Amino acid sequence: MNARVLIDGPSELVFDYAIPAELPVVEGCRVRVPIRQKTSSGTVLAILEPPKQSEFAMREIQSLIDPEPLITPTLLKVARWIANYYGSSIESVIRSILPEAVRTEDNSAKTRRIATATENIDPAELAKLEKRAAKQYAILFLLINAPDRTLPVADLGESSAPSLKSLAAKGFIKISTEDVRRDPEATETIVPSEPLVLNNQQQEAFNQISASLGTSPTPPTPPSPYLLLGVTGSGKTEVYLQSAQAALDLGKTVLVLVPEIALTPQTVRRFKARFSQLDDQVAVLHSNLSQGERFDEWHRIRKGQARIVIGARSAVFAPLPNLGLIIVDEEHETSYKQENPPRYHARDVAVLRAAFEPCTIVLGSATPSLESWQNTLTEKYHLIRLDQRADAHSMPLVRVIDMRLEKQKQKGQVAILSDRLRTALEQRLAKGEQSILFLNRRGFARSLQCHGCGYVCQCPHCAVALTYHRTDERLVCHVCGHQSIVPRKCPECSNPGIALQGYGTQKVEEVLQKILPEARFARIDADAMRRKNALKDILKKFKTKKIDILIGTQMIAKGLHFPNVTLVGILNADLGLHVPDFRAGERTFQLITQVAGRAGRGELEGEVIVQTFTPHSPSIQFARKHDFDGYAEQEMEMRRQFRFPPFAHCAVLTARSGHERRAEFTLQTLHLRLKENLPAGISLGEVLPSPLIKSHDQFRFQITLRSHQARPLTNHVQNILQKTTLPEDVTVVFDMDAYNFS
Ligand code: ADP
Ligand code: ZN
Repeated sequence: MNARVLIDGPSELVFDYAIPAELPVVEGCRVRVPIRQKTSSGTVLAILEPPKQSEFAMREIQSLIDPEPLITPTLLKVARWIANYYGSSIESVIRSILPEAVRTEDNSAKTRRIATATENIDPAELAKLEKRAAKQYAILFLLINAPDRTLPVADLGESSAPSLKSLAAKGFIKISTEDVRRDPEATETIVPSEPLVLNNQQQEAFNQISASLGTSPTPPTPPSPYLLLGVTGSGKTEVYLQSAQAALDLGKTVLVLVPEIALTPQTVRRFKARFSQLDDQVAVLHSNLSQGERFDEWHRIRKGQARIVIGARSAVFAPLPNLGLIIVDEEHETSYKQENPPRYHARDVAVLRAAFEPCTIVLGSATPSLESWQNTLTEKYHLIRLDQRADAHSMPLVRVIDMRLEKQKQKGQVAILSDRLRTALEQRLAKGEQSILFLNRRGFARSLQCHGCGYVCQCPHCAVALTYHRTDERLVCHVCGHQSIVPRKCPECSNPGIALQGYGTQKVEEVLQKILPEARFARIDADAMRRKNALKDILKKFKTKKIDILIGTQMIAKGLHFPNVTLVGILNADLGLHVPDFRAGERTFQLITQVAGRAGRGELEGEVIVQTFTPHSPSIQFARKHDFDGYAEQEMEMRRQFRFPPFAHCAVLTARSGHERRAEFTLQTLHLRLKENLPAGISLGEVLPSPLIKSHDQFRFQITLRSHQARPLTNHVQNILQKTTLPEDVTVVFDMDAYNFS
């Protein structure tokens, strides 16, 4: 067999080598290989069949650097599953599992020399030393009085080298080396927290989760995943914390996934605070760790020194030994889906990893994804509910404002702020309370909406909004290809005020400053966040009440907890509803529910104001009533009718190229081939321009495919792709279980 080896170093070279019979090489092994006249170290990405006829003799792997592969057997199984399921190369998966920092030897652990005074030094000897060698005596005295009778050699000063040598020769001290950990959080101070007394529902949740952990050492069949559905503020995090403690008590390790570290600082802090007594056992995998820090954290995890790992998407590959519990917080968040190869979904990979380990897994959310919800209905997952806020505060009052009426009042001007929201903001300012304003800005594709009656141009076949294409002045459905002309007036009410939707956070800030000149504002969006630590700084200012009104996109809807916030406004709840994405309604429901959870977290009662042009849409009405079940029921009916997930897998095949025709033609060729021998149960959509038709100077076309079963779909597409030679300047991307349809 051959091994495909990624050579260490910045140029990321990949070469194939023959595997000598005596070497037990598997994926993830570190090896030494010849390259030109030299040798180099590298990582085995894949084991391959040798090519049938080779023109030249393949060079051989010289040696194994470490007999243990960097990748654990379970993670190797996970890697193979991802490669198969998502149709990605095993190489790209191994690259994700073993971060570059870990593959490169330059980052190997830093060590330092330390001096330790030996035990039971004879006082008479010590007295002699004091008289004859004052310097040696001074050093020894320091060491004897240091913790563990040890100090780093560097701390004793450069001139101490000869004295240390003599002391060691006389047997008074020992010199040795120790690993130094580069601690990314060394400067942080944490106040420890104690477990809270659980309320009845929390206790019940905890009992079930911890009982499934207790089947030590390893359960014969993995426990089915738990879906913890708890309204915002119901105390899910406390259940996570105590379940994690239970796993640690059994000597196991814990993996906690959060949507994004920077946006969930409070969740991370609560884990650190609870487990602070465990001294360094919590590893937080930030995306901004230095290479050295990443290397150290990875090895601490691998050795079982860090027993709780918190991280975003890629932390699902953390090499924890003896894993007992995986927690996926906010499991519905789409940031768990990776949009580069391999295009895995971290929640789904986590579920799979839990089955392979085997270990307990808890998916938590106030607004679970319909995929997970469906799994509870079919009893693949086990549902646990928390229906009440843990702190006994009531859910905030949600008011829905019909912006069609505001529009009439404001004489056709773009209505950003309703009278109601404006008054509410003024009241908060007067009382010294804080407000958050959200702008729902999903996607770039704009839909047409009537400002008179709220009508949105929809596809007659698919229950998604039609997308406006400026280039040819048409409305197109991105699911089935249906096209229509752009109406000059509203087809419902004949109002000529039918127009494209949209305004940005900057515009909002500008308008607000005019209306409320005395208020202190801050804006959180991708533009404002370019500066390092900008987010941290703003959140800190907001916490210390130096800002009255925070304006942001859905970036800030997650995991923030500000007791003084009593008003949350959503300026344009609709905007997300009409993007060409069958999950649009689901996301709007989630956004409103999550955002509403930010209000009234403290002693003060909260109020939420939702501005919308479609006040009767189900996602808005059910969110207003905090009714997940009602929402899920009607949304599932729509999904079932139109065969969308969770009733089918939905994949997108995209072709892109600098040459528009070539991209389109390539995809049409693939379409023809996919159509031949199309396995039963797979439906193949038409070739369509992507909503984002041009991006980075590349023209994009796509096909949507749906299937009951995932494997036949991936296999069929991979099969055709392997048999097709693509033009050099065309890139084809296959995205299984796609979340991004733009
Ligand atoms: P969630 O994660 O479901 O949004 P949190 O865990 O953040 O909810 O809990 C909301 C608030 O309730 C927090 O301030 C938390 O400290 C508090 N809390 C949670 N559980 C309890 C409990 N059993 N007793 C008292 N307060 C609790
Ligand atoms: Zn359609």
